[in-house]
Amino acid sequence: MILIPVQALNLPLFLIKNSGSIIDYFLSNIHICNMKKFDFLIVGAGIFGITTAIELRKRDYEVCIINPDKIPHPLAASTDINKIVRMEYGSDLFYLEMANECIDIWHNWNKLFGETLYHEVGFMLACRASMESEKQNFEKVSYNHLISKGHQPERMQGETISTRFPAFKKGVYIDGFYHKKAGYAESGRVVEKLTEYGRQLGVSVFEGQTAIELVRSNNQVLGIKTKEGAEFKAGHTIICAGAYTPYLIPELQPFMNVTGHAVFHVKPSRPELFSYPNLSVFSADTSNTGWYGFPMHPHEKVIKIANHGVGLKLHPEKDERVVTQKDVESFRHFLENTFPSLANDPIVYTRRCLYCDTLDGDFWIDQHPNLSGLTIGAGGSGHGFKMAPVLGSLIANAAENIEDPRLNRFRWRALSPDTILREEVRFME
Ligand SMILES: Cc1cc2nc3c(=O)[nH]c(=O)nc-3n(C[C@H](O)[C@H](O)[C@H](O)COP(=O)(O)OP(=O)(O)OC[C@H]3O[C@@H](n4cnc5c(N)ncnc54)[C@H](O)[C@@H]3O)c2cc1C
Repeated sequence: MILIPVQALNLPLFLIKNSGSIIDYFLSNIHICNMKKFDFLIVGAGIFGITTAIELRKRDYEVCIINPDKIPHPLAASTDINKIVRMEYGSDLFYLEMANECIDIWHNWNKLFGETLYHEVGFMLACRASMESEKQNFEKVSYNHLISKGHQPERMQGETISTRFPAFKKGVYIDGFYHKKAGYAESGRVVEKLTEYGRQLGVSVFEGQTAIELVRSNNQVLGIKTKEGAEFKAGHTIICAGAYTPYLIPELQPFMNVTGHAVFHVKPSRPELFSYPNLSVFSADTSNTGWYGFPMHPHEKVIKIANHGVGLKLHPEKDERVVTQKDVESFRHFLENTFPSLANDPIVYTRRCLYCDTLDGDFWIDQHPNLSGLTIGAGGSGHGFKMAPVLGSLIANAAENIEDPRLNRFRWRALSPDTILREEVRFME
């Protein structure tokens, strides 16, 4: 069976909006024998995929994007109430500059979306030791680089942190800095809005389609087959399947690990302490503990806290994605020592969210070295969402073979198993 997207039915808008059951009927019954061949087929509508689809459509190509189930998919890494947008990358000026450019574009996207989905609430990087100590190298180098690039991070020492942000336990975080040019994006909602926008531009969006196999003629990729029985044909196929990417393209497995990370949403009994401006996005000595989080979400009324650490290696389909009792205990322990007023508040939601980690932590955006008509846009490595405003053009440039110096960092590369992950904020015990 081959499906066509709602907009390709050419139905009047009022019918599309008001007649869900009619559309369902059409979608489940239409069989098209000669499905059109697209210029580009994007597999996966997380943030890597949807931004690529939009970019290529803007370049006037016929583009389709497929995703299992619904978009945003509940299990996608991009789907959550928020993700940090920050430019603090330790000594890595490449990502600092790219994130800085993205933040400017995030403001434009708020206008494009017609609602504020990027919230510039600032970022407090709190340290347990002096920023001069070796242990706080990440914060110190980030701070110095921000200043050297003309930004204005505010150094906060001693009681300043718990005075300005009273939820913090007094006397624990004694140094750090606050940077106002940072915040968070409502990530699931961003994917939803971008998908809507893509549809308006003419991207053909197919939900409920799961790629299982490349269609090939010798070394030329012609499209993909899906579990649901459809075959999508395209001049060029781009795999943006997040944690599933190394399973669709097994030759990537030596260079990528899929790791699961516990995420907690807590309902505060004292919401005023956790609402912006009383709390910004924060890292709680992250490079030594992994913990970071957000102020209370303006609509969901919960606080999201997670751990940017090693995580658990797991298979995206075969393994259970659960948060364990041990995760909960370590989270409660963190709360007692950081936000005592939250320590006994109810955890209302947990998930184990999957990073598609490359061994060096850099994204993986390149054409396949041995198969033509195939590009990979994946390897978000736990820090990709903030770069949404440039991901689409990076991946489209790779697919179109357009010179882009930034892509040098993301090329297909033969990483040895002992490669060290480079993102300095990540807590690697
Ligand atoms: C807990 C956690 C916290 C994070 N925090 C931050 C943060 O604060 N800031 C930040 O910048 N980044 C953060 N990240 C990283 C960021 O979320 C990811 O880098 C980014 O979302 C990856 O996007 P993606 O499109 O590659 O993958 P995904 O969002 O996972 O999207 C992949 C899509 O492909 C689809 N798919 C899978 N298999 C198939 C198939 N066979 N056929 C078709 N489609 C398929 C999936 O359904 C999914 O929709 C975090 C990640 C996690 C897990």
